[in-house]
Amino acid sequence: MTTPASPGPEICCGVGPVTGSLRFVLADLHLHFHGCVRPRELLDHLARSDRLLWDWYESEMHAAYGVVPPTRQVVERYRRGDAAAAAEFAEIFVFGEQDAGNFARFQAKANLLWVAAHQDDPSHHIAEFATAIRADHRRQGLAYAELRVSADMLAIVCDGGSAGERFAISLPRADPWSEWDRVRELALGPLGHSLVGVDFGGVEEGHPPKDQAAFFAAVRDFNAAHPHRALAILYHVGESFGDKSLESAVRWVHEAAGLGVHRLGHGIALGVEPAMFGLHTRTESVAERRDQIAYDLRHRDGLRAAGVPVDPVALQDEQDRLVALPGTATVNVEYDGARLAEVRRRQDYAMSRVRSTAAVLEVCPTSNRRVAGISDPAHHPVHRFLAAGLPVVISSDDPGIFDTTLDEELDWVCEHTGGGEELRRTLLRTAWRSRAEVLTGRLPE
Ligand SMILES: [Zn+2]
Repeated sequence: MTTPASPGPEICCGVGPVTGSLRFVLADLHLHFHGCVRPRELLDHLARSDRLLWDWYESEMHAAYGVVPPTRQVVERYRRGDAAAAAEFAEIFVFGEQDAGNFARFQAKANLLWVAAHQDDPSHHIAEFATAIRADHRRQGLAYAELRVSADMLAIVCDGGSAGERFAISLPRADPWSEWDRVRELALGPLGHSLVGVDFGGVEEGHPPKDQAAFFAAVRDFNAAHPHRALAILYHVGESFGDKSLESAVRWVHEAAGLGVHRLGHGIALGVEPAMFGLHTRTESVAERRDQIAYDLRHRDGLRAAGVPVDPVALQDEQDRLVALPGTATVNVEYDGARLAEVRRRQDYAMSRVRSTAAVLEVCPTSNRRVAGISDPAHHPVHRFLAAGLPVVISSDDPGIFDTTLDEELDWVCEHTGGGEELRRTLLRTAWRSRAEVLTGRLPE
């Protein structure tokens, strides 16, 4: 077992010689361990495994896509030496432009990574994947990576880890407390040097940020008591919001930042162009609507200053009416051009408030475009995040599933915002300064 040392002095300050030339170092701060596995490594893994959970994978694919791809047949052909099978497998596994706009589809394709997870020795495939991921990071020229893993995986992924690798434990939104004793034990143990954060991901619907307030306070207490093992709070929010109004989706990101989250994963709802959604109707629970009314009343002055009309009497009347309904009842919200424009002004206000918290936005362009179905580059939230002066770091999220690299993600942002090389340097500098250990004060900037 080895504990990775700190990144060497050649990359302090975020500038240094990488791949032979002087340039700003590449640091990818939003990566999911399994999402980093490239199609070829996954195919090799499946081809070597017996007892694969094909029925589970196929039923999930059928539910999400309405059809079942010939994945198991392609793997079998690969086993028999069919040279064409690898390319076909990559086509099936990668979540591409044609899949865009649906988190359920993304999850169904990603399930392939766990088809062999029932093997008697799960540590074996984790170690194999870790080796492949490190090789991929070397090919990409990544000097630093923060990977999200489960608590079970930490010891395995730390074994043989590189100097520029750190980890965050992904916690269940429904009950992060169930893992908290273990996370603290790991953070204070011999691997604590590599464990730099906790992460909340997966389905966010049904889990408002306010539910985590007590847990976040516990993390802050832990950090105050153990500053050398402090843990950053990394929180996916505003990525998928089909179950609520656009106003509530914006509010969730604002509230997460206000609860002390160090880095916000995606935060699409905060800055996506509302016009992208066109005229439409949304539904949200009465509980969400009540929370939104309370938010509007609490932020009335700021919202008004941003050009959002707030009528306290009407809102209070509505609140009084909703009190009689169960929180699970629903209300409809109609969006016309005027309301979409108002949502945009709400975003401006919320972004200004998020900026005051120092929370960092993790932007993953390809992931955002495909999972959220942002087909027009002009609608991507990164434009408004940058215009609002928010600290933005560019990451690749699941580069294996999306078939991308950090360089390509940076290229997309610099090209589509017109920021060019100067923006690229700014983004790399921001990423280096936004490492979990820096944000929690473990390391100086
Ligand atoms: Zn993610």
